[in-house]
Amino acid sequence: MIKVKKSVQALAAYDPHLFAGRYKLDANENSYDVPPAIRKKILARIAGLHFNRYPDPGAPILRKILAKKHKVAPESIVVGNGSDELIHYLIQAFCEKGDRVVVPTPSFEMYKVLALANNAQPVAVPLNDRFDLDEKEIMNAAAGAKMIFIAYPNNPTGNCFSGDSVLRIIRDAKCLVVLDEAYFEFSNKSFLGMLKKRKNLVILRTFSKAFSMAGLRLGYMMADKLIAAAVNKVRLPYNINAVSQACAEVVLKNSPNPVIRKIIAQRDAMYGILKKQYPVVRSDANFLLIKVKDGMRTKKIFEKAGISIRMFKDGILRNFMRITTGKPEENRRVLEILKRGV
Ligand code: PMP
Repeated sequence: MIKVKKSVQALAAYDPHLFAGRYKLDANENSYDVPPAIRKKILARIAGLHFNRYPDPGAPILRKILAKKHKVAPESIVVGNGSDELIHYLIQAFCEKGDRVVVPTPSFEMYKVLALANNAQPVAVPLNDRFDLDEKEIMNAAAGAKMIFIAYPNNPTGNCFSGDSVLRIIRDAKCLVVLDEAYFEFSNKSFLGMLKKRKNLVILRTFSKAFSMAGLRLGYMMADKLIAAAVNKVRLPYNINAVSQACAEVVLKNSPNPVIRKIIAQRDAMYGILKKQYPVVRSDANFLLIKVKDGMRTKKIFEKAGISIRMFKDGILRNFMRITTGKPEENRRVLEILKRGV
């Protein structure tokens, strides 16, 4: 009898919450695609690629560009097929069976899922009622743990946790601290400056949000060379395909993405309007978390309008909706519905 291993039996396959609406605002993507002029350059690069050859293992050119941009050594950078893959590799490389992984909750679901998939033990530490870190509880849980994940800004709440708390956790924790800065470009707050001093710090970034490249699957981590070397041992040799490598190289030459400023301005304007009517979290990311009265009814209203949103059903997030800040036209439609009252 073929038997799936126990840790996998307990998991559910990822539900991408697919909805064929016209306005897709449920996954914190960038509503603006890569601009036509850059697309043209990308397509020219792709035309010159040899599809019959394996891609450069470890994306060395891309790593060099990123190293220069962030003023770190190329050996400190590992590129992943999305930052998801790097979360997986970090747990795979550092956690023995049963090792504890501290996960502030609610946060990005993959920390828990990938800990379980790798036979590690996720330890959920609830956020406080301001959706901030409970520093004391995190430090208690960190004693004897292998790593702590901190999304900064946090998903799905959208806020950056108290910078002082994060700083002390990085400084005092004896385990790896993985600071997931997937939404950094919308917050402009980073702990990258601590990387050289703190050998236990890992910074994660992605091309999926500010760089409009979610479909190309590219993320990267920056850390001490020893950590990067360990991750490289479990990394699949050709994890980044040649098309994605080429795209990122072109996109980086044309960064920063001018739409970031627009999205931030729209996000803050929406927050200013919505907070008069709803409990809403001030966001440092490209989405807003809003509490409505009846989540299921609200979801139906949005679906009817062709807008797909993320609605939470359980626990502390019950009746909270998360909505991506999109283009002005999309945001206007969202506000129209919410202003009517849901
Ligand atoms: N970290 C956080 C906090 C996220 O919200 C997401 C995507 N929703 C990711 C990582 C994964 O991003 P990627 O597309 O790079 O795998």
